[in-house]
Amino acid sequence: MSVQEPDFKQLFESAPGLYLVLSPDFRIIAVSDNYLRATMVERKNVLGKSLFEVFPDNPDDATATGTKLLRASLERVLEKKVVDVMAIQKYDIRKPASEGGEYEVRYWSPANTPVFDDSQNIKYIIHKAEDVTEFVRLRQTGIEQNKANQELKLEKDHLEKVRQSQRMEAMGQLAGGIAHDFNNILATILLSCESSLLKPDTPASVKQNLKDILEGSERAAVLTRQLLAFSRKQVLQPTILNINVVVREIEILLNRLLNEKISFSTDLADGLGNTLIDKGQVEQIILNLVVNARDAMANGGKITISTENVFLDKEMSYGNLEVEPGQYVMLAVSDTGVGMDAPTQARIFEPFFTTKEVGKGTGLGLATVYGIVKQNNGTIWVYSELNKGTVFKIYLPFSDQKVSVIEKTPRPETEVSGRTVLVVEDEALLRRAICTALESAGYKVHSASNGAEAVILIPQISNLDLVITDVVMPVMGGKELQKQIRNLKIDVKILFLSGYTDDVLADHGLSEDNPAFLEKPFHLNTLLAKVQTLFD
Ligand code: ADP
Ligand code: MG
Repeated sequence: MSVQEPDFKQLFESAPGLYLVLSPDFRIIAVSDNYLRATMVERKNVLGKSLFEVFPDNPDDATATGTKLLRASLERVLEKKVVDVMAIQKYDIRKPASEGGEYEVRYWSPANTPVFDDSQNIKYIIHKAEDVTEFVRLRQTGIEQNKANQELKLEKDHLEKVRQSQRMEAMGQLAGGIAHDFNNILATILLSCESSLLKPDTPASVKQNLKDILEGSERAAVLTRQLLAFSRKQVLQPTILNINVVVREIEILLNRLLNEKISFSTDLADGLGNTLIDKGQVEQIILNLVVNARDAMANGGKITISTENVFLDKEMSYGNLEVEPGQYVMLAVSDTGVGMDAPTQARIFEPFFTTKEVGKGTGLGLATVYGIVKQNNGTIWVYSELNKGTVFKIYLPFSDQKVSVIEKTPRPETEVSGRTVLVVEDEALLRRAICTALESAGYKVHSASNGAEAVILIPQISNLDLVITDVVMPVMGGKELQKQIRNLKIDVKILFLSGYTDDVLADHGLSEDNPAFLEKPFHLNTLLAKVQTLFD
């Protein structure tokens, strides 16, 4: 069967792709209909013309490289005599004059293929182009959307963090407020019980009741101390100390908390840096973390306490830990326990959040740790995997000062002192309890319900030795009272009572230059011992 030769010209011109046939000197010899449509030109206007005369670069686009790259590609074809596939490029198309003659942004994927004559010279170059404008646009929108999504997520994470810390702040204020009031109540209970216990005429049966009340109040005092720690209102006595020393000291106690199914080890860094912190707080951190680790390992496992000198660079400190970059002392407690899922991890620092059964957990352990670490400008990092274990890393700022020598508080002397004391306290019950306690210890006692009353009273008291004053009181607080006493030029010692560090006191750094301080609630003996030391 003979087949009639097809009309190749017609076939070429109606081909579904975009084609140009060029002579070796880059004149347009043939062009497909689709090419004409895509580039918005007419066949009669382009045939025989130079390619670059017909399709110049967009004169408004200074960065246009379309013709330059195309010429380079065509020259490569002439030189190397192989097909040259070009990268996707921008080449704007000019609309016909009838449509305004403006340029339109377009992207193309071109390829130039040599066609040889019998003696292997290049006779034509087929220029094939594909309009990939839509594809490029989609890809760009995709990239932009991705970027936008990422930014949105960062923003969301950040907001979530801010919201979380605001929530913690609010809870801290609530907790601190409750603890403050509770401390006054507890101080009253403790002092009254202890005063009554000391009285010789209190019957034995009543004494037992009083002891029970004391025990209960002490447990309550532990709770309020945790609340205060969380709200960062704990009264502090920071000293320069080495965490390794604290860990070694507390090890015996820790071993007593653990059972034989749990192995305990330490890995303490040589030459660990010092840090400025209240020692009791470090102990609270360690105890809480170790007790949690123990509770996470009902079937036994391994607890490790390790320490390390760590430098947090900008990226690490801001990105992940949100503290100032610098040198830190790291304390880590890790366990091989049940671990935590993400929803649990998100809430562990909230006060009263616990997954333990009623009576087993208070949910205050990690809240306490959180408050302490924040109060000391440190940070916490947690990593946990379900059924694998958990590690808590506490970072505390490094201090280049030497370890402070902690003075031992002298033992209380029971002998009657005969000194004169003024008690300034707005809580009537507590005021009475303190007065009674001091009186029964042999002090001459006066009282006032706030600073202003005290200022009027003081000049009338002869031989006043000591003013014991609450810090936060209506009308006039303890700090202002101290100022007024100095103005009166009366030489008298001052002992502050508070369970709550207000900012005034915090500014004065409760440690060194502050004269004397007693944390509420306190035992009778502690009060008397403190008063005694002021006279020593
Ligand atoms: P509590 O121990 O009274 O429950 P915490 O504030 O100490 O309160 O801990 C809160 C919760 O965090 C725990 O109930 C527990 O779900 C989780 N948690 C804390 N430490 C660990 C740990 N090491 N392994 C697994 N879960 C832990
Ligand atoms: Mg706990």
